[in-house]
Amino acid sequence: NHVVKKKPQYLGALQNNVAVDPKQLIGEAFHQRVGAVNHELCDPGEEDTFFVADLGEVYRQHLRWKKNLPRVKPFYAVKCNPDPKVLQLLAALGTGFDCASKGEIEQVLGLGVSPDHIIYAQPCKTNSYVRYVKSVGVKQMTFDNADELHKIAKLFPGAELFLRIMTDDTSSLCRLSMKFGAPMDTTESLLALAKELGLNVVGVSFHVGSGASDPAAFRKAVVDAHTVFQQALTYGFHLRVLDVGGGFCGETFETMAGVLDDALAEYFPSGCGVDIIAEPGRFYVATAFTIACNIIARRTVDDPAAKTTSYMAYINDGVYGNFSSIMFDHQHPVAKILHAGGQTLYNTYAAEPAPGDEGIEYSIWGPTCDGIDLISQSTRFNRILDVGDWLYFENMGAYTKCSATQFNGFPNAHDTIYVYSESGAKALLDL
Ligand code: PLP
Repeated sequence: NHVVKKKPQYLGALQNNVAVDPKQLIGEAFHQRVGAVNHELCDPGEEDTFFVADLGEVYRQHLRWKKNLPRVKPFYAVKCNPDPKVLQLLAALGTGFDCASKGEIEQVLGLGVSPDHIIYAQPCKTNSYVRYVKSVGVKQMTFDNADELHKIAKLFPGAELFLRIMTDDTSSLCRLSMKFGAPMDTTESLLALAKELGLNVVGVSFHVGSGASDPAAFRKAVVDAHTVFQQALTYGFHLRVLDVGGGFCGETFETMAGVLDDALAEYFPSGCGVDIIAEPGRFYVATAFTIACNIIARRTVDDPAAKTTSYMAYINDGVYGNFSSIMFDHQHPVAKILHAGGQTLYNTYAAEPAPGDEGIEYSIWGPTCDGIDLISQSTRFNRILDVGDWLYFENMGAYTKCSATQFNGFPNAHDTIYVYSESGAKALLDL
């Protein structure tokens, strides 16, 4: 594949990597862009919300993955953020891809990624998509029920199948087990049916829930997967891949990876002939994207009884847009001041209330007509903000723009300015 072809340059890009302060690069990108917008004269769209993506952060996360889970090959979950440059960088770094639909598979194949670096990790697939993946040679796919096995037997009997088992996802942010995963008391009958239909089961997969916080869930899932590997032998399937799914978060990664690695060492030791893959999404991109939003309107709220004044700030992005993560991903994005009164305040603490000072209270709202479009009920700054000022929110890379709508006619495609706090990331993209 293309990564192998470019090997000498690829290694050069990694070896000659130079790191630069990410905050400085992001700050410069913000300063240039917001400084160019004149609110009195600009055309519609010029003041639109935009992202700054630090691909150096994606690169660092990859190195972190390799350090902590050297045996586990990541197949990035495209659904989390299908940004074209993120996908291109990850392809250059040699990751595989977890795709959920024809659209995602087409996008990844379009980058020149080999079909065997893709897993169609959707246990309940669309008939026509199964015919499509057969036509393009993407063989790996998951299943978790008998109806799906009959579908695959009819449409793509040569597929390489992963039996997705149910997990304990109670500690996760986005639970998946109410929808997907075969309960452990059904795995034998599914293996028996696969055998009867002449299908090719090659592995087991699981997902402990997105944003998982209990490392024990990984251990339990590995133990259950091992049970299914044993069961499979009795049906003549010599399983060769374990897919440990996604659910990894930056904050807890080392702990999770440690528990997972120990469980793998115990149940699937190196040299046992089983390849381990994973489907991380959030881990790679959450921290790589920062968004800038413009204050488009302000309402002053006086409370004569309490003798206070607070403000409702309306910004040009909300829960129907890139803040869809509030609804779908249970996030609580934190507003910071990017630009106020003609000054760029990114990453300075100049906008926070001094200790002991309550500051001025704001609620922050999206631009649509819906009352549910609320980003923050209460945020405090040390200054009065006005229309035309900018806010920024960090950690906006996971499950944000991919699930944005155009409700009320607001655009859901926005500019992304790319910066590279690790030169290796840029060098890989330039290969
Ligand atoms: N794999 C599958 C099948 C998923 O459904 C998801 C997320 O929903 C992922 C991988 C990515 O999960 P995460 O972003 O938590 O790593």
